[in-house]
Amino acid sequence: MSDLTHLTIKNALEGLDKKEFSAVELTQAHINAMESTRELNAYITETPELALKQAAESDKRRAGGEAGLLEGIPLAVKDMFCTKDARTTAASHILENYQSPYESTVTEKLWQDGAVMIGKTNLDEFAMGASNMTSYFGNVINPWRSNAHDKDLVPGGSSGGSAACVSARSAMGALGTDTNGSIRQPASYTGTVGIKPTYGRCSRWGIVAFASSLDQAGVFARTVEDCALMLQSCSGHDPKDSTSANIEVPDWSNSFNNGVKGMKIGIPKEFRVDGMPDEIEKLWQQGADWLKDAGAEIVDVSMPHAKYAIPAYYIVAPAEASSNLARYDGVRYGLRVEGENLIDMYEKTRAEGFGDEVKRRIMIGTYVLSAGYYDAYYIKAQKIRRLIVEDFKKVFEECDALLTPTSPGVAFPIGERMDDPIKMYLEDIFTSPASLAGMPAMSVPGGLNGEGLPLGLQIMAKPWDEESVFRVGQEIEKAANFTALPNLLTKAAA
Ligand code: GLN
Repeated sequence: MSDLTHLTIKNALEGLDKKEFSAVELTQAHINAMESTRELNAYITETPELALKQAAESDKRRAGGEAGLLEGIPLAVKDMFCTKDARTTAASHILENYQSPYESTVTEKLWQDGAVMIGKTNLDEFAMGASNMTSYFGNVINPWRSNAHDKDLVPGGSSGGSAACVSARSAMGALGTDTNGSIRQPASYTGTVGIKPTYGRCSRWGIVAFASSLDQAGVFARTVEDCALMLQSCSGHDPKDSTSANIEVPDWSNSFNNGVKGMKIGIPKEFRVDGMPDEIEKLWQQGADWLKDAGAEIVDVSMPHAKYAIPAYYIVAPAEASSNLARYDGVRYGLRVEGENLIDMYEKTRAEGFGDEVKRRIMIGTYVLSAGYYDAYYIKAQKIRRLIVEDFKKVFEECDALLTPTSPGVAFPIGERMDDPIKMYLEDIFTSPASLAGMPAMSVPGGLNGEGLPLGLQIMAKPWDEESVFRVGQEIEKAANFTALPNLLTKAAA
């Protein structure tokens, strides 16, 4: 494996600037890594030719003195973002051969800043899941392995392909989407950094819709600073998305190495759930100690409604999904299975086109929206959502950021929990509140557990205050000094 694949984005930009290597060489090294790690099934569509073409153009721009923010950096894109130059599947049979006529705003921004697209990554079908097991294109394998057994592990989900390829060094960074934790949980399971910004920071235009009031674009990279660089490029107001906020994007490069001295970090006691493994509890305490040693004040805070986040989410998200997915009718997009009449065609197309988890969500969604149940479920869930927003408002009067674990465990063996949807839904226990309230939240690797598997810590802050998330994240990153490599790479090097 070439050393170029181990560079951070920041170092690669410096190397490109100093002409130590070209964007074509950097891209080729990542294409080689993508090909040699195919066993992970991290990509649905590889785009090596496009990548080399973009890289050659990037080299020309740099030579002409026109380097953009991410000039020549090879990135992967979750297959939820519409791209003009490669199909967009959402990991579903129903969109298996869908070619979008337009480019999503977020990917467009990356290309405008000079980034190179290496491929489209695998995910849970329509981003519904926490294990990457529900993809029509097969599951993704985590490049990490337990030292206690020999089973293949999930990379987390739904952005499992993006997390796996950043961890396995076949992309320097990747785009993900996060509706209830789909960036943060896979980041935690693969030893990568993943952030979803404030709802409205990044445009949703051209992202396949799952649950519109919760869906967000975000990024994966191997350092906090690289995530900030990518997010800088992706963020900003977009008139094509009515929920995109017309708020100035600060220059986050200024917020680096400012430390956490004087910051107040809240530890929400309700996140200390029953049955939480000791190693997670210990890591959480370790994280708080690191921040305290760096000059922050640690305060206990309370979010009494956080425990209702999962039930509220699993009503609101399926409700929105059932409406959003009504568009897949065999007429306008993707798969069409002919029937005896129009209704028969709809039914056959949707029966064949959607997988089990997607069907389950559509059924739950139509149920909670139906007359008679609307008030009991949907309205109630919306009220809980409001109470969670109020909880956040209150705690942010007492502190600048919150620290919690990212997930209730480590990467688990492939296939586990598939027969128990509730257990799978509990994967989102720590990530759900920030999604329902639209807060910026990031997962940073905190260390390895006893089995040698990565564990992440989650940092949340006030709306539009990604800067605090980055500051705290960088301090954790410094203290944790997470340099371990996934087993796939140490095995290859041995
Ligand atoms: N696990 C959640 C779900 O299945 C998260 C999905 C997401 O964030 N895209 O809905």
